[in-house]
Amino acid sequence: MTKGYVPVQPQGRASGQSAPAVNTAELNTAVNTAEANTESNTALKTAETNTGSNAAIAAPQPPFPDADLMYIVDLLPPDEQLRYQEVREFLQSRIRAASIDYWNREEFPFGLLAELGKYGLGGLQTDGTSKLFKGLMYVEVARADVSLSALVGIHNELIVGMIDELGSAEQKARWLPGLTAFTQLGAFALTEPDHGSDIAGGLETTARLDGDEWVINGAKRWIGAGTIADFALVWARDVADQHIKGFIVETDRPGYTATKIANKIGLRIMQNADIVLDEVRIPAANLLPGATSFSKANELLRDSRAWVGWQGAGIQLAAFDVARAYSLQRRQFGKELARFQLVQQQLAEILGNATASLALMAQLARIQEEGKLEMVQAAMAKATTTRLARASVAMGRSLLGGNGISSDYEMGKLFGDAEILYTYEGSYEINSLIVARAVTGKSAFV
Ligand SMILES: Cc1cc2nc3c(=O)[nH]c(=O)nc-3n(C[C@H](O)[C@H](O)[C@H](O)COP(=O)(O)OP(=O)(O)OC[C@H]3O[C@@H](n4cnc5c(N)ncnc54)[C@H](O)[C@@H]3O)c2cc1C
Repeated sequence: MTKGYVPVQPQGRASGQSAPAVNTAELNTAVNTAEANTESNTALKTAETNTGSNAAIAAPQPPFPDADLMYIVDLLPPDEQLRYQEVREFLQSRIRAASIDYWNREEFPFGLLAELGKYGLGGLQTDGTSKLFKGLMYVEVARADVSLSALVGIHNELIVGMIDELGSAEQKARWLPGLTAFTQLGAFALTEPDHGSDIAGGLETTARLDGDEWVINGAKRWIGAGTIADFALVWARDVADQHIKGFIVETDRPGYTATKIANKIGLRIMQNADIVLDEVRIPAANLLPGATSFSKANELLRDSRAWVGWQGAGIQLAAFDVARAYSLQRRQFGKELARFQLVQQQLAEILGNATASLALMAQLARIQEEGKLEMVQAAMAKATTTRLARASVAMGRSLLGGNGISSDYEMGKLFGDAEILYTYEGSYEINSLIVARAVTGKSAFV
């Protein structure tokens, strides 16, 4: 449960309705209300003595409550705008505050997963929605909780997407209904203990065809949902032709062991695992027929890199929500933090970073829709929004002073989560190398 401040609940605009202009009268009311409090920090103290979420001052709704200053959501068609508002309200009211305790305890919220399923978030990849809608869903899940947005993104882009695009008719029939309903989960098992950035060349896990079975041996590291998934999509090198191939390995197969990686500084809800594959036997039919070389998975890996770009935008909007709400309620030197120029500059910078990220991603969705997205744009978007995210959460953390250290105030949670976005799906450095190689024609990887 968040303590000490009442987050500004984003309340989206109805479809077609223009955003409220900055309303100075409303702003002045906010300022005057706060100024009328003779005791500094009345709001915070009131909130701390109450457990109810509406305990603090009735903070007036600030202008641009949804922080979409560039009207990105208005680019969606009316039916998707309606669905967007519905899902977003659910995420803000049901997921955002509830996720904090799970994050603290490094515990997976199975109940919340079921609710995400009811809102269709397990089926974004195959339900025919636009790329922009899917991206804005990733933004809003990240704005509510970054770990769950990792789960939703990996699930759609790398599990449902791989089976839908590269799987056999039998594999699709067996797995897609449960996956898209979010009643089943897959884990994407590529990274290894000794190979992260150089995985494409260095992958050591092996697959050997023995009669009508594949025998898999090796180890994987950092695998999201590895301890709770129904199957892992394991990438292994076929000893016969040396190609890297994708296999569905059910997690109850003898020889599959997953151990949770504990004590992470971010993404603490996501159950990342060390996996050992010791002579694991799977039917020959568990090979994804479309994944008979790593390059076949390239389009999906490119799209999943872009998904992290959306996460980078979402986490910054979350940081902005928290920073703005806090600055309007916390009082020092007899006035709200929001009245200090240096604080205003930080708020403007966080929102500017978030908006630049969102606008970049909206254009990425456009070229993706036109079939023009290549790895260079996905890498640039991922590297840029996660770089900005790191800067934004650092500003937000400092803006909350000591309270920015605590996950109780949400900002500490965002601060840790940003580190993961910066590192996974290709680290910041590796994505930068991909971009610079494309624009110079020179590779600087080794
Ligand atoms: C929380 C979390 C969740 C994850 N989830 C998954 C998952 O579900 N499935 C999965 O398969 N993987 C997952 N990963 C793995 C992730 O993709 C890797 O951590 C990432 O690719 C970096 O690899 P590495 O950690 O081995 O770092 P390394 O490759 O060892 O890199 C260490 C440092 O060296 C730098 N570096 C490496 N090579 C170069 C170079 N040529 N030039 C310049 N700098 C270089 C890197 O940028 C980095 O800063 C996850 C990771 C984390 C932390």
